[in-house]
Amino acid sequence: MATAELSERETGNLMEKIVSLAKRRGFFFQSSEIYGGIQGIWDYGPLGVALRNNIKRAWWRTNVELRDDVVGIDAGILMNPRVWVASGHVQNFTDPLVECKKCHQRFRADQVSGPRHEEDGGEFTEAQQFNLMFKTFMGPVENSSTQVYLRPETAQGIFVNFANILTSTRLRPPFGIAQIGKAFRNEITPGNSIFRMREFEQMELEYFCRAEEGMKLLEYWKEERLKFYEDIGIARDKLHVLTVPDEGRAFYSKGTYDIEYDFPFGRQELEGVAYRTDYDLSQHQKASGKSLEYFDEETKQKFIPHVVEPSAGVDRTVLALICEAYTEDEAPDDKGKMETRTVLRFHPRMAPIKCAVFPLLKNKEDLVAKAKAIVDLLRPHMFVFYDESGAIGRRYRRQDEIGTPFGITVDFETLGEKGAELRDTVTLRERDSMKQQRVAIKDLANILVSRIS
Ligand SMILES: [Zn+2]
Repeated sequence: MATAELSERETGNLMEKIVSLAKRRGFFFQSSEIYGGIQGIWDYGPLGVALRNNIKRAWWRTNVELRDDVVGIDAGILMNPRVWVASGHVQNFTDPLVECKKCHQRFRADQVSGPRHEEDGGEFTEAQQFNLMFKTFMGPVENSSTQVYLRPETAQGIFVNFANILTSTRLRPPFGIAQIGKAFRNEITPGNSIFRMREFEQMELEYFCRAEEGMKLLEYWKEERLKFYEDIGIARDKLHVLTVPDEGRAFYSKGTYDIEYDFPFGRQELEGVAYRTDYDLSQHQKASGKSLEYFDEETKQKFIPHVVEPSAGVDRTVLALICEAYTEDEAPDDKGKMETRTVLRFHPRMAPIKCAVFPLLKNKEDLVAKAKAIVDLLRPHMFVFYDESGAIGRRYRRQDEIGTPFGITVDFETLGEKGAELRDTVTLRERDSMKQQRVAIKDLANILVSRIS
């Protein structure tokens, strides 16, 4: 029991360290913090936005640009409210909610441990269904006929554009439509920093096919998605596939997998991969009165395509990458004394900054000029950071903490002061091993580009 308590404290501690590092170094902040924050909303700082852009770019590249059977779209956040009636969200996108009769706090019924509020003994009300969609009004009149919703998922923007994509491209099933964008859910209990937010971003792919291909493609996409997470640096043994049981699945789904990750606060869903049959297009065809069938010229067959949906969260992936990368080890300081080093071991492809360039001393004009020339040389290829302040060991440590995989130091050897053979070479230091090697400036771009791609 003592060990269990200890490990719980340690994992809580790890999450605290990660959130504090995120704030200190500019990955993410609580939204509107100077006003006391707002629950369930987080803002990304300079490094956070770079990391999430790298994730989105990798997803788009893998799922759209490197395939000939998937195209992208970018639909509006506000849609005709009839979309959400047809999709079932107005009726069914709800969580059961109970209220404490004493303090009037509200909770998800499945997250309370008894009929009474533990804190004050107040009795809970009967559970009521609470719709998670955010509402607003369109135009100058605020009434039920002008009410619209902030989309709770990006998928419906894909389904309602299905016919437009069919006629504007010459794709034939199986093919997919991909989208990355914001979604909004009025979660009763958001939490674990950027894990469960009320405003978040999704990366969704709807892959349309014939009914007989559905189950096979469900397996295919589960494997593709696992491969993706490995490619961006998440260890395979930290990923788990949960086969969602019948009672946990939407009634129209013939199979759903959750891809889960071992977060410090427990094993939690990173992505859902669901075979949704022809439910979505059928619903929209019925409600809109517009045909969403595909006509196969060759076989003269007409059918409503089935769909397999891998649906990932940008923010959860950001958090998983930071948790996965976070390590502490021992390294010597400038005087050779061992100290604890915090390192984010991001895959170089995902690291917000790829390379930092340092002149050994900031008051030596020649060193500074040479270092700045190297920045100019590398900048067209990657995100580079220049830093001239503080002892060189401190500068390395600051980059380790934000996961910069490479550091370049310009020293007196570079200027040719320690022999002609070292002129125009620099020290290239690797973040994880802290190994340093001497490299010619003219080779830098090639070496680094091959290691970050
Ligand atoms: Zn209470």
